[in-house]
Amino acid sequence: MDKQTDFVLRTIEERGIKFIRLWFTDVIGTLKSVAIAPAEVEGAFAEGVGIDGSAIEGLTRSFEADVLVHPDPTTFQILPWRSTDDPTARMFCDIATPDGVPGVSDPRNVLKRTLARAGDRGFTFYTHPEVEFYLLKSSKIGKDGQPEPVDQAGYFDNVPGGTAHDFRRRSVRMLEDLGISVEFSHHEAGPGQNEIDLRYADALTMADNIMTFRTVVKEVAIEQGVYATFMPKPLQGHPGSGMHTHLSLFEGDSNAFFEAGAEYQLSKIGRQFIAGLLRHAPEITAVTNQFVNSYKRLWGGDEAPSFVTWGHNNRSALVRVPLYKPNKGQSSRVEYRAIDSAANPYLAFSLLLAAGLKGIEEGYELPAEAEDNVWSLSDAERRALGYNQLPASLDHALSLMEESELVAETLGEHVFNYVLKNKRQEWKEYRAQVTPFELRSNLEML
Ligand code: GLU
Ligand code: MG
Ligand code: MG
Repeated sequence: MDKQTDFVLRTIEERGIKFIRLWFTDVIGTLKSVAIAPAEVEGAFAEGVGIDGSAIEGLTRSFEADVLVHPDPTTFQILPWRSTDDPTARMFCDIATPDGVPGVSDPRNVLKRTLARAGDRGFTFYTHPEVEFYLLKSSKIGKDGQPEPVDQAGYFDNVPGGTAHDFRRRSVRMLEDLGISVEFSHHEAGPGQNEIDLRYADALTMADNIMTFRTVVKEVAIEQGVYATFMPKPLQGHPGSGMHTHLSLFEGDSNAFFEAGAEYQLSKIGRQFIAGLLRHAPEITAVTNQFVNSYKRLWGGDEAPSFVTWGHNNRSALVRVPLYKPNKGQSSRVEYRAIDSAANPYLAFSLLLAAGLKGIEEGYELPAEAEDNVWSLSDAERRALGYNQLPASLDHALSLMEESELVAETLGEHVFNYVLKNKRQEWKEYRAQVTPFELRSNLEML
């Protein structure tokens, strides 16, 4: 038995843990959980735990319905909201077939595979997300047809009495108890909208952390009698919830994006990585922005990007190279601003990495940076400057994804086809709606 499994077994005994939840994520990014008794944990490490995968969205093909979940002992944590009565812990799992083949549709496996590709080139991939979400009074729709936010505060406002009983402080404490470091938290621009930024970590740890983060935020909301949502655009006329993600590659201890004295301290590798993100952004958007609703955010202004540009401190750009802080050492990184808070982090990080790596492998040239506010230009001006658009709808994004070799290769055939099928269905149902907008603008006129 290795040291880590030994530590888990000892902790379960010493802390009187009664339930161990095995967590994994489906293709759409929903967290799944199965609880086992302490006595089962040793066997779970040795052989995995059998589950019927066909019950889970996109997880298996019907002919391989029985799958095993293998807990990753390095992810063992006691759940702070279940730490006293019947203490409960959790571990993230990898999914495999009974013959030990990694599950083709396990998003964690897709990310591990992509990270291994980067590893072959000597790179470790780090991410750091800024997660935005809304706090609502409940999940019910108010009289005006909109959800009701918990407050009317705005960007960086200090809300007297605290946003929903000091919601952020409570969440940050819980995250720290779970070993997840938080860098920053504040009220965002929309009423009831908040942001919590997680300290950078390798992309696999971070994808796990984001799944935990969403659970923590939902749990704290329940505790405080409010409702938290990661929906990309819950309130019409207010900003959406993005998950701007800072990306960097390391070679050993050194930041491969850093070059002292270069423009923005950005190395050639950093520039090629951005060029890869830009070239492939439209085809990966169906995954970084996977809901019909995601496109209401992307095309709704309010600092969400709609055009494929990059810039230094340009908040209308898709990729931003943040201000370089000399006292932060080799902190060179790039911020990808399209991805939203409802993305599956495993799949989205896989595609961001694959796009960036492609830029490096093929030596893509970085186009000139956008110096203006891209939204204030006319279509003709944008065309003249060569600024491409992000897809304007889920339908458009799916058509671009369907043609993409990069997405097919990275996700693997099964996940690729599943996403297309599942999301086409969502689009079909959406398209069949007759909306209040149409009734309002057409009924009496036509
Ligand atoms: N809420 C904005 C978005 O949807 C981002 C605001 C910010 O710059 O933090 O991307
Ligand atoms: Mg923000
Ligand atoms: Mg940002």
